[in-house]
Amino acid sequence: MKRKETIPLLYDHHTHTSGRAAHYDCVDLTDVRDKDKAISLIKANCSEERVNVVTGLINSYYSFSSNELEKMPPVVICNLSFHGFSFNEEAERKVEEKFGSTQLLERLRDPDWTERNLPKVIKFLTDLEGVNKEKLDRVYDFYLEKGIWRTDDMLLPSEDVLDMFVDSGYDERTEFWADLETYEGLSKNAKKKVKGIKVFADGALGPKTAAIKESYSHEDDKGILIYNDDELKEIIEKLETLKKDRISIHTIGDRAIEQVIDVIAELEEKGFSLPKTRLEHVQFISEKYAEEAKRLGIILSMQPNFSLDSEYYVDRLSEKYVRKNNHFRMLIDEVGFIPGQDLIFGSDGMPYGATSALMSSLFPPFESQRLTLEEFKRGYCVEDKKRGYIELQMDERKKEIKIEEVIDQRKI
Ligand SMILES: [Zn+2]
Repeated sequence: MKRKETIPLLYDHHTHTSGRAAHYDCVDLTDVRDKDKAISLIKANCSEERVNVVTGLINSYYSFSSNELEKMPPVVICNLSFHGFSFNEEAERKVEEKFGSTQLLERLRDPDWTERNLPKVIKFLTDLEGVNKEKLDRVYDFYLEKGIWRTDDMLLPSEDVLDMFVDSGYDERTEFWADLETYEGLSKNAKKKVKGIKVFADGALGPKTAAIKESYSHEDDKGILIYNDDELKEIIEKLETLKKDRISIHTIGDRAIEQVIDVIAELEEKGFSLPKTRLEHVQFISEKYAEEAKRLGIILSMQPNFSLDSEYYVDRLSEKYVRKNNHFRMLIDEVGFIPGQDLIFGSDGMPYGATSALMSSLFPPFESQRLTLEEFKRGYCVEDKKRGYIELQMDERKKEIKIEEVIDQRKI
């Protein structure tokens, strides 16, 4: 049975807007499930003259042998999650020409270094392609086409990029988060424009670096914790000196989630005044730690799209983990998280847009991951339809959702 629904435009609480702008024209493999097709796309669209960033590789479908890589134009190929890379010798030569050194590129070969220095890595990949005003325009057009009005850009690469947002007025539709090093390098004025500090506590599922308690299948590998407890405490305490009262911490695996929550609880017990804390992704949070997070006033910033990891990563996750992923029903029904208040939603750009966000919210792999349309609206949409709205066509029996039209009120 088809029915129509109208919902407000989205507020995508976790995106990489500047990264998306830099990589707007890059070959994107997210929807390319056939390796030969991927290779011909890369050969047809990448320039021989410069380093090309290629995005969206899902390595549970395929990866490239060094022989295949060397036959491509100069490329740096990024995993869908930007936690895992491959590149060829031509790319090394071009990077040497452009930056005078291949040091950063070389280090992408070391997953441990990469995970510990992810903001540097993302900045390097953004610099390879560059951001400009025209690319920003195209990204915001693309966002609106997909039903997105507002975004949180989780890794601001530089003050120059921030200035570009401000000059074109897109700062009105964007909240900026910066890693500590970038933040400390900003001018006083720019610092005011940054909402909070972004920190990574573990890696991701793609390169098997998300810190989980059980090892990834058939391997004695439990992912990576970026910091020890004392380092984490130091970072959180430092926010007070920086006069920043918001922190956002990337935690995917249960080992990272529990480490971060334990550290925050310890600081609270000592009477330290905690910054407003957001945990990003938190895919494998247990009920016990969800209760503790709720008690500590932590906001969970989650991606309904990541419910599909329960299908993508059956090659590396046990049945227990596949079922534990994105347990929204436990968070809302058992622990009392409230969408829009302490449970907010975003895409992390994998992929962007209302259709995929709604599909994975309303028709996820497991019932435990299902959100109601009302919960979706509260946690994922701007508060009203003043800026515009999305007209949807939904068919619950066939599990189909289509955007009929995105209405932009500025054009009416
Ligand atoms: Zn992200």
